[in-house]
Amino acid sequence: REENFNISVSLSNPENAIDIPNPVHTFNQAFHNYPEILKEIEKQGFEHPTPIQCQSWPILMKGHDMIGIAQTGTGKTLAFILPALIHIVHQPVPRWERPGPTCLVLAPTRELAQQIEKEVTKYQYQNIRCVVVYGQGDKRQQIRQINAKAEIVVATPGRLNEFSEKEIIDLSGVSYLVLDEADRMLDMGFEPQIRKIILDIRPDRQSILTSATWPEGVRSLAAKLLKDPIHVIVGSLDL
Ligand code: ADP
Ligand code: MG
Repeated sequence: REENFNISVSLSNPENAIDIPNPVHTFNQAFHNYPEILKEIEKQGFEHPTPIQCQSWPILMKGHDMIGIAQTGTGKTLAFILPALIHIVHQPVPRWERPGPTCLVLAPTRELAQQIEKEVTKYQYQNIRCVVVYGQGDKRQQIRQINAKAEIVVATPGRLNEFSEKEIIDLSGVSYLVLDEADRMLDMGFEPQIRKIILDIRPDRQSILTSATWPEGVRSLAAKLLKDPIHVIVGSLDL
């Protein structure tokens, strides 16, 4: 990880008076209040946070919306998932009183959804359970895990939309939304399902969008679904 990253951080609307939090440089700086998280990072053997993680953690832990543009393999999963764990335990409504999941991650494919779930599960943080929902998967098992109070749902948009329409899952308590690899989700034609799902979750949510590229379709989706997002761009956009 010695690449020479070129990173830029900016606001969608520079007229908004948002103080962009300073990046962290170490895991300890980001998570000194969360020793269980630090311990697991240490177990993974990671030496230092990636550039997108350095920027994302303070932004997300302050509750801002964020757009993260960076290539594959730059550590975007941990960039959004560790703040998600912290978000879940800090919501004002007690965990056991919430109607359904608090965090929803939408991903383009089953493989990606499973990878994200695997990453979350490593942390075993405060007994937060995670369920992965995708087409062709065992529906009954997915439903059982949802009912077992999964607080993080990682899903492909098609199957989740079906579950939401059939009222198998109650998304009304979702206050942390991630659209992971938004460019790929749009390429796969998931925009209508994404838009329907969004109608079921909390309007006052925190939203994060990640993408490897920044084409017009992703821009307009971000403009519709995110509120005053901070843009974190790693590398060049080659525009
Ligand atoms: P992306 O979503 O940007 O494609 P991932 O989040 O899938 O990237 O991460 C790619 C790989 O890098 C994973 O195997 C992950 O465990 C590893 N990784 C994440 N953060 C770090 C880090 N700070 N240092 C070293 N490896 C990391
Ligand atoms: Mg990823």
